[in-house]
Amino acid sequence: MTNILSFLTLINVINVHFYFVHGFPKSDVDNFYNGASYPFPYFTRDEWEADIPMNVKPLAKPVPYVVIHHTYIPSACNTSEECFRAMRSMQNYHNSLGWGDIGYNYCIGSMGGVYEGRGWNSIGIHAGRANNFSVGICLIGDWRVATPPEEMLETTKKLISVGVENGSISPVYKLVGHNQTMATECPGPALFNIISKWDHYTKEILKF
Ligand SMILES: [Zn+2]
Repeated sequence: MTNILSFLTLINVINVHFYFVHGFPKSDVDNFYNGASYPFPYFTRDEWEADIPMNVKPLAKPVPYVVIHHTYIPSACNTSEECFRAMRSMQNYHNSLGWGDIGYNYCIGSMGGVYEGRGWNSIGIHAGRANNFSVGICLIGDWRVATPPEEMLETTKKLISVGVENGSISPVYKLVGHNQTMATECPGPALFNIISKWDHYTKEILKF
């Protein structure tokens, strides 16, 4: 009996240690919502071998805005391996700017896979003062002239729906391009032309 008890205590100690030292096993939580799998291929930070975030501030939810970006550089990625490399290069670059992590909350590849950035719970660095009030979604590639593949656009819509369902994004959110938060060409005229026809798009120029 004593042996069983001490064994159980040991298991508990290990669990508590895991919880506090390593945090909740994120991939188990983020792959699912409402008990169902995400309706798109989903890749966690562990999968793209992200560095540990050094800048984590809680995002007040639900956010009223969704801000859409393109990368310009890196260029479009067409396999998960290419997208993993793109994620790592963006994180390295954003770290070099002192941002403490990749700037975006989520990124999307050309095949329609979602790559976890800062996630639903952390304030991103992608749109100036709008960071505190938005989720930043980046469609990896240069979408100034070329149009993103249909899978990528469909996944973007689905990801926003998931965010609304899980309480991260307000059901009455407003959709904007990065160019509505500051002077930039992002998300590129071709992509901007597409999102400006989507539900929830607003012409508003964001000023906080
Ligand atoms: Zn942008």
